[in-house]
Amino acid sequence: MLITRIVTSTLVLALLAAGAHWARATVSGPEAKYGYLETAHRFDFPVGAPDGEGYYDAQPFGENFHLGEDWNGLGGGATDKGDPVYAVGKGVVTYVDEAGKGWGKVVRIVHHVRHNGRSDFVESLYAHLDSFEVAVGDPVTRGQVVGSIGDADGIYVPHLHFEIRRTPDLPIGPGYSPDDSQWLDPSAFIRAHR
Ligand SMILES: [Zn+2]
Repeated sequence: MLITRIVTSTLVLALLAAGAHWARATVSGPEAKYGYLETAHRFDFPVGAPDGEGYYDAQPFGENFHLGEDWNGLGGGATDKGDPVYAVGKGVVTYVDEAGKGWGKVVRIVHHVRHNGRSDFVESLYAHLDSFEVAVGDPVTRGQVVGSIGDADGIYVPHLHFEIRRTPDLPIGPGYSPDDSQWLDPSAFIRAHR
């Protein structure tokens, strides 16, 4: 009967769709979007690599609800403008763009990490840059130059605003917020992954 055949084929299509969905679900999160990402086992600091030598964090994570760290050269003023900014770990570049007033040029990188024996993903974010040295989709290694320290088009004394986010690909956000649930303390994270 025609109606039986339609019902049967609909059922088969539904099962196929469910199967396809299940297959996709086995690759979830950023890997579904960016492909297989090698695990980043070790992280370094984003300036003065590998240890941040010659720089200091002028506004630590959490101070004034800051969601990142503000890395400045020890020389003060604009002496650090144009200094290299490094990828803190192995990963893939997911964003290279002007992110709007207050942000300037921003690079974002997704990293595959092991956390408590499980796969996890974090994002590192580098803001107020003077120049870009990478493009979206580039695989990067720890210590690779991704850009240079800038002043977000003249609105700050040059420094690197640096974040590590628990969840990749969130909206660019405010930079400051009492809700830091999607952010990690960058230096604490790096020190825990040396
Ligand atoms: Zn900042």
